[in-house]
Amino acid sequence: MSLIVQKYGGTSVGSTERIRRVAERIARTRGEGHDVIAVVSAMSGETDRLLELGRELSKRPTEREMDVLVASGEQVSAALLAIALNDRGVQTRSMLGHQAEIRTDAVHTKARIRTISKERLQAVLDSGSVVVVAGFQGVDDEGNITTLGRGGSDTSAVAIAAAIGADMCEIYTDVEGVYTTDPNICSTARKMRQISFEEMLELSSLGAKVLQIRAVELAMKHRMPIHVRSSFSDAEGTIVTAEENVLESVVVAGVTADKKAVKVTVRDLPDYPGVVAQVFEPLAEANISVDMIIQNVSDQGETDLTFTVSQEDAARAQELARELSKTLGGKDVILDDHVAKVSIVGLGMRNHAGIAARMFRLLADEGVNIEAISTSEIKTSVLVHSKYTELAVRVLHDGFGIGDTPGA
Ligand code: ADP
Ligand code: ASP
Ligand code: MG
Repeated sequence: MSLIVQKYGGTSVGSTERIRRVAERIARTRGEGHDVIAVVSAMSGETDRLLELGRELSKRPTEREMDVLVASGEQVSAALLAIALNDRGVQTRSMLGHQAEIRTDAVHTKARIRTISKERLQAVLDSGSVVVVAGFQGVDDEGNITTLGRGGSDTSAVAIAAAIGADMCEIYTDVEGVYTTDPNICSTARKMRQISFEEMLELSSLGAKVLQIRAVELAMKHRMPIHVRSSFSDAEGTIVTAEENVLESVVVAGVTADKKAVKVTVRDLPDYPGVVAQVFEPLAEANISVDMIIQNVSDQGETDLTFTVSQEDAARAQELARELSKTLGGKDVILDDHVAKVSIVGLGMRNHAGIAARMFRLLADEGVNIEAISTSEIKTSVLVHSKYTELAVRVLHDGFGIGDTPGA
């Protein structure tokens, strides 16, 4: 008998009919003699709907109340799934974040899990019940409800699997696994049988929303393999695992696009040691992650500083950069959200020269202009105009020959 954590995403619990199908799958797993902890997301569209409601009432709702609001989505689906399971005769108890003692830091809307009470979950399992945990939510030391950032139920599932020492963590979603690129954008996307934690970490951080980045970080830290698969079929999905377990090694594993990048440009700053630190320190204090950075130094002792942040952080980043620019005598701060970051990822890039050059050539041949570049050991990212996003993904995916042959 093993202990299996199964996470079901929003589409998988998107209607009562679908919840019934999920209950069927859990009943089957239980019937095979396994203990099951199911982690659920809110029904599809629900988190967005709730966020909209909050924003209708205030331009700047407090993050604490927004967390109380959006966490309710997962409470509903956890209860519904438990009701469906009990109705089938599968003894089940739902647990909210605080009931499972999922303790987080106090950073509302993007909290990090600190600890999970193994005892609470184990006690319910020992009583012979399936446990359905509301994903995405936790509780801070003061008892406030927190949430883990968009897509955070993946992280709840992996954290629970690691805390309780599960034999397997399955992430059920609306595609059959992790593909070489988003299968909903590119018809030649190919499902991978396996992918390393390192590559998945890059794909997630660069826009492949199939797994939340923190879920992959945790899985890697605890060496907990993840099986990403479809809740609509029994097909084998993709195993995300340690590099040494991955059999096929490729130069470029996948291509991603992130349209949520926003470009911020601070113009004509005085150029002396410490200016860049002065711009970025307040951003860091406000918990804003800065991604690509370009600094153009002119010979007049002035500099233009361009960087990218996520859409959610753009307004705040502009505000902070504006205040600073004013103090330093710089010009206005300009936002441009017509940009997308397109990236190629692969462990093989470590040992192959010329991959980035080939990427630039493939884009140039299609007339796609590159506005910024960033690289790491196993990825190269370019910033392009958002109108070229799909084109750039397809050109790179087909150009590096990593997908299925069209029409095959
Ligand atoms: P869930 O609601 O189950 O958590 P998400 O919508 O968060 O599902 O993630 C699944 C989606 O991720 C897919 O529908 C797909 O469009 C998108 N996606 C982006 N890149 C990839 C990729 N490389 N492989 C698989 N899916 C991807
Ligand atoms: N419901 C949350 C979201 O839409 C968490 C999740 O689905 O994982 O982001
Ligand atoms: Mg998701």
